[in-house]
Formats: sequence, structure tokens, C-alpha cells
Amino acid sequence: MGVTLDLSRAPAKAPVAPNLTGLSRTELAAALVDAGVVPNEKAKMRATQLWRWMHHYGVTDFANMTDVAKETRIALAQTFSLARPQVVERQVSKDGTRKWLIRMGPGIEVETVYIPDVGRSGALCVSSQVGCTLNCTFCHTGTQALVRNLTAAEIVGQVQVARDDLGEWPSPKEDRRLSNIVFMGMGEPLYNLDSVAQAIDIIADHEGIAISRRRITVSTSGVVPELTPLGEKTQAMLAISLHATNDALREKLVPLNKKYPLAELMAGIRAYPGLSNAKRVTFEYVMLKGVNDSPAEAKALVQLLSGIPAKINLIPFNPWPGTEYECSSWATIEAFAAILNRGGYASPIRTPRGRDILAACGQLKSESEKQRASARRKAVVSE
Ligand code: SAH
Ligand code: SF4
Repeated sequence: MGVTLDLSRAPAKAPVAPNLTGLSRTELAAALVDAGVVPNEKAKMRATQLWRWMHHYGVTDFANMTDVAKETRIALAQTFSLARPQVVERQVSKDGTRKWLIRMGPGIEVETVYIPDVGRSGALCVSSQVGCTLNCTFCHTGTQALVRNLTAAEIVGQVQVARDDLGEWPSPKEDRRLSNIVFMGMGEPLYNLDSVAQAIDIIADHEGIAISRRRITVSTSGVVPELTPLGEKTQAMLAISLHATNDALREKLVPLNKKYPLAELMAGIRAYPGLSNAKRVTFEYVMLKGVNDSPAEAKALVQLLSGIPAKINLIPFNPWPGTEYECSSWATIEAFAAILNRGGYASPIRTPRGRDILAACGQLKSESEKQRASARRKAVVSE
């Protein structure tokens, strides 16, 4: 059956006004001049004003920029947008963890999680991609089909959404609820380094959101060639998803290990710019029952990290439907941690947070996707 649609008379789609959120200061000044909204000689000054309104005060309406001339505000509003991405779902856990499902575009949804009492006062776990191409066998995100890189604006947008919800504008200097950022949501940040670095520049800017680079951590499964560029471009804290102490097992858990085996990974980490006792690498190690949780492996871990300024984070495995893995028992995790303690690593167990709203790492987006799939199935059945 052939059906031809005549689109010649379909109404033209309204052009989308460019959003200014993800631009650097220089790009912002250039965008104002290019659009003919601001003359060249005033561009830098106007860009600085706008920057403070957007990133320090969190305004989403040009009309509120009271020190900008009224005609300029009108011209800005006609040309550009400051709109936030749409929050599709919001959940708050008994323990104060908050989770937002955020829509960046049709079918492009990511999850962002705020965890209180982590870092200085609270950490935001942001996504860098929709889905992930890397297929670590214990990670639910890796089973998701759709993958695209998020833009810098979409990464900054997650921080803005959290700040809106926490009521944390203008950006406070002290007593912040959102003090730290971790790139531990969906995706592999080092496969999207340009946007991640640009987003970090915006988030860390002193006249804006002003979260110090020392409080921003980027977690990677080990994309070795991008480690030094990450350090040089962002000066962020580094976290490595290690999960195993020998190549044979790590290849099974983190298939990227075939490309960048442990010896190369460890060499890349030792060369991370700025590494010192004040700026340690965090090693993440997910506790999988009977797979990587023996006392011998705890000892091997201490040995592997010797000489590297490091912290260890033991993550209780967060199970998902269909997974072949189970979380190690609490006694096993404690025994493993005790060996690390004797090796000089203090309190390395990460307390599970937000379990009642499935907000833990590796669970992100998947549950919402599962619920929608189940709603679709129900709709089909009732038809
Ligand atoms: N892609 C990056 C960052 C996102 S994953 C990376 O792999 O580092 C953030 C952390 O959650 C990683 O350490 C990852 O190994 C861990 N993780 C993934 N699935 C998990 C699960 N089901 N239970 C516990 N931790 C998980
Ligand atoms: Fe991707 Fe990280 Fe999950 Fe591995 S653990 S599949 S790299 S998100």
C-alpha cells in the first residue's frame, strides 16, 4: 500500500531560538554581535552581564535582567532562548535523594540524581551521554540502544534543573546543598570530552555556578588516551571504574579493557596531571558476589594501587532485571574493606542511597524506560 504525503503545503516549522546556556564567555559575546543585538564594542561587557544573570542568578527570562537596556532585553528575547530542558518526572527518596528524568528532545531522556551528605554537603550525579556504547556486563546503562552525546548546554542544564528544584539561586557562596558534581550518570564522559570540558568550564566559573574544579569528579571506565587531555582541559578529579585486578576478569566486566589493558591504564593514571596526596584518584570497585570479592583480590587491589595517591570506593552492586550478577553479602564487603583498611584505605564502602527510587548508579534511566515499556505493553493488551 503506497501512501504519498504532500508536504508542500505543510506549515513551516518555527525556527528554534538558539539557547545561550552552553556557550563559553567568548562564544556568548560573539553570538550577541553576530545576531546584531549588541555592537562589537559593548559585546564583552554585555556578555559579562548576561553571564551573571544566567549562571549566578539562574534567570530564564531576559526581562528580569534589570541592568540591561529594555530594547536590548527585547531584542535578546526575540533572538535567543534561556529555556531549561523539560523535567518529565521527579522523585524524592525517603533519605532525601532526588532524581529527575529530563527530556532534552524527542526520545532523548537522561536521569540526574542529587545525593545529600556526599562530598562537602551534596553531590549531583550528571549524565554525559544518552545510553553508553561500552557494554560493561554489570551495568544496565550499557544495555540501552540509543546513544548520543549530550551537548555542553544539556550537561549544564542538568545542574540548572537541580538548582531550580533545590531553590539554590543565586549561587550561594556558603551553606550550599549542591556542593559537588560527579560525572557518574549515564554514558562514558571521555567519549564526549569536548562537551564535558566546556560544561565544566561553565559550571566552575567564579561568576556563575562556581563549583570548584576540586569538587568536580569525572568517572571513566578507562579510555586511556583521553586521561591526560581530561586533566589538562578540566583539572577535574579523576575516578576510575576498576572492578577487577587482573586482565582476564576485567575484560569480562569492562570489555574496554581489551583495548586498554590494566598495565596501560595504570600508567595513564600515574601520569594524570596534578596527581598528588591532595588530589587523589578514586578507584571504583563494584562488589559482585563470587566474581571479584575474595580476600585475595582485596590484597591484589592494595598491591596494584601501591604508589598511586588513591582512594577506594567499594560500590555494592545494584541488581537489575535480567542481570547474571548478585551483590556480595554485607559480611564479604566488610571483610574486603577490612583488608583495604589494613592497606591504608579508610572507610571505602559507598552506602547505597535512594534505593527506594532506584537512583543508584547503573540503574539510571533504565527503570523509567522499563516502566514506559510496560505501560506500552498494557496499552497494547487493552486495545
Ligand atoms: N561510564 C563511566 C561513568 C558512569 S558509570 C564509568 O563507567 O566510570 C558510574 C559508576 O557506576 C561506574 O563505576 C560504574 O561501574 C558503576 N556501575 C554501573 N552499573 C552498576 C551497578 N549495576 N551497580 C553498581 N555500580 C554500577
Ligand atoms: Fe558505560 Fe560506565 Fe555503564 Fe560501562 S559502567 S556501560 S562505561 S556507563
